[in-house]
Amino acid sequence: MLTRSRRRLAYLFTLAMGGILVTFAFVVYYFLVRERLRGFDLTLKNETQSYVSEFKYPLEKGEGQYRVEFGGTPLTSSSDMLKGFEFACWYNTNKSPLKINDNICPAQDLVKPGFQTIQFNGYPANYQQPLFRQITSSIQNGNNKIGYIIVAKSLEPVQEKLANLRFYLSMGVPTTLGIVGIVGWFLGGVAMKPTKRSYEQLQRFTADASHELRAPVAAILSNAQVGLLAPVDNSELPRQRLENIVDISKSMSALIGNLLFLARHEGRLNTKDLRSVEIIGLLKNLSDEYQLIAKEKELNIIAEVPSQEITLLADQDLLQQAIKNLLDNACKYTPEGGTVKLKAFSQMRRISIQIIDSGIGIPAEDLPNIFERFYRVDSSRTRSSGGFGLGLAIAQQIVKAHGGEITVDSIVGEGTTFQVCLPLRKVSNQT
Ligand code: ADP
Repeated sequence: MLTRSRRRLAYLFTLAMGGILVTFAFVVYYFLVRERLRGFDLTLKNETQSYVSEFKYPLEKGEGQYRVEFGGTPLTSSSDMLKGFEFACWYNTNKSPLKINDNICPAQDLVKPGFQTIQFNGYPANYQQPLFRQITSSIQNGNNKIGYIIVAKSLEPVQEKLANLRFYLSMGVPTTLGIVGIVGWFLGGVAMKPTKRSYEQLQRFTADASHELRAPVAAILSNAQVGLLAPVDNSELPRQRLENIVDISKSMSALIGNLLFLARHEGRLNTKDLRSVEIIGLLKNLSDEYQLIAKEKELNIIAEVPSQEITLLADQDLLQQAIKNLLDNACKYTPEGGTVKLKAFSQMRRISIQIIDSGIGIPAEDLPNIFERFYRVDSSRTRSSGGFGLGLAIAQQIVKAHGGEITVDSIVGEGTTFQVCLPLRKVSNQT
């Protein structure tokens, strides 16, 4: 239980830190993208300004439109003189390209000043699509605004840097999370220490108290029993009293026994304390044993177990105790003439043992609490049968101690099925 709390603490700590870390990584990435783009845009703007100033834009005589000239001669191709740009296109204020022989620039529907990120189609699908940053800025001829220039530059250097950053983040975040998990586990251990200490103290106290109570209760019981054996006068009163003392002492002794049991067998059993147990034989013996009890109550006990032997690692006495508790309940809560079935089958390296009865059943609202200590569905129905509400808690504790699980299914008036699932661990040469 404490290990589970520690694991949970470490898990929640890692989850919380992970959330913060991932958010932080996203924020850092977002601001770095913005920062790099801003730097890129600034350089692009400066380069465009000095680029534009290298050209002249004289008015073409007769044709009434501007052309682009470099060093006194008209530019022959729009792909000439790119100076590191992906393309450069000049437009007049009517959005049609300025005159350049062999002009590859398309007429633009939109000439919007400012920056834009664009992508060219035509690259293979599996190729990392390169992005380009384009700037649209106005060009002047003297004081006249004669049009716009659009230049574009590859964003590859920025993309490369961001890809590197993404790589470092995708490696760094999981590694840091792993470290956080380990630290969380360690801190969980430190935080659980006082709880563990008081829990152990409490457990020791319950065990000691139960142990110490056993002797006086046993003394009361034996004295009362001796008193009953002695010849008594005609009065029924002392005899009745002694019988009451015997009954109460027996019940107290059972309660103390159960409490001691719960305090002693907390947690998972150590594998070196387990022995190989032939479970089918054990179930058959139990079914024979309960035939006698069943006869008194006119119950029908059926054993439905595989014919071949199945061996598992277990503490035989404890396992027997768990199944007995379930069989006791099945017999207790099944009216005369009913049936109690003990069924077993193995599947996927596990063995399932079912105790099915045709008894009074358990209401659905009680099922989630049924394994709690001292929980009784209806105290009136259990008082007559003398239960303390510890039988199922003990059965569950034993099954869990073996690494298994216990479940229940019930319909009121039709019956109840308890299922115990146990792992079939490899049996070494233990006896
Ligand atoms: P108790 O010793 O009181 O029987 P348990 O822990 O064994 O305590 O069971 C808890 C409660 O669950 C019981 O009070 C009983 O009402 C209910 N219960 C357990 N097994 C059965 C069953 N097979 N059929 C009906 N009710 C059951």
